[in-house]
Amino acid sequence: MAGTYRPLQVFLKKHGLEGEGAGTLTSHKCLLSTVQGREPTCPVRGLALGQAEEVWKAVAHPDLLNRHRDLAWLVAHGVLPVRAVMHARRLAQTAKCPRAGCGGEETVFHALWDCRVAQELWRAAQPLMGQFWGPGRGPDCGTTLYGRGRASRGASRWRAAWLATYCCVEALWTARSLLVLDRKELSPQAIWRLASSHVKRYMERDGRRCGEEAARARWGCAAWTLMGMGKEALIVG
Ligand SMILES: [Zn+2]
Repeated sequence: MAGTYRPLQVFLKKHGLEGEGAGTLTSHKCLLSTVQGREPTCPVRGLALGQAEEVWKAVAHPDLLNRHRDLAWLVAHGVLPVRAVMHARRLAQTAKCPRAGCGGEETVFHALWDCRVAQELWRAAQPLMGQFWGPGRGPDCGTTLYGRGRASRGASRWRAAWLATYCCVEALWTARSLLVLDRKELSPQAIWRLASSHVKRYMERDGRRCGEEAARARWGCAAWTLMGMGKEALIVG
């Protein structure tokens, strides 16, 4: 008899379900949601388990567009196919940043935060980000790479800050891919134009869902002012 239950015991042990009651174990829906509910606690390299939970919550934010969620997942796992990642898997000849005159190792951190091009974009985004983080402040690399910092923001401010961060990350990744695949280099203004067009789409979606005024209150500005804000920041910098 014990042999009959052995596979079941292995399954329960593997998924940490030994302590669950019959209510959970006899319903596949309950079982699935119990197991899936634990997935966000999967560890992130270099972070404590509680911090990893914060990361997976940010990655799975329900208001992120699917393509931003996918991108955030690759970034948080450190497997965005930048040259350092590809080189380590023998899929690229060099780990060097493709930007002319840069010479840094193109890690995920470098491509999205440390490279001069990334820093220029974060500067352009600063007037918008200041709405959520406070004047003169913006996301740091912990927010950009791991979605950290939610605890210090209210839910509404965090939502706009996190969505806007991923608009910038997407613009950086698109610009980088254009450079590597098509040898086309976008100016800092063009990268900001791309990022702000993504932000604008989020703002318009909010406008349709909850009305123009509420959307403007969420984002702290109107969509039409976005492009100018970034341009000015680039000139001043
Ligand atoms: Zn670089």
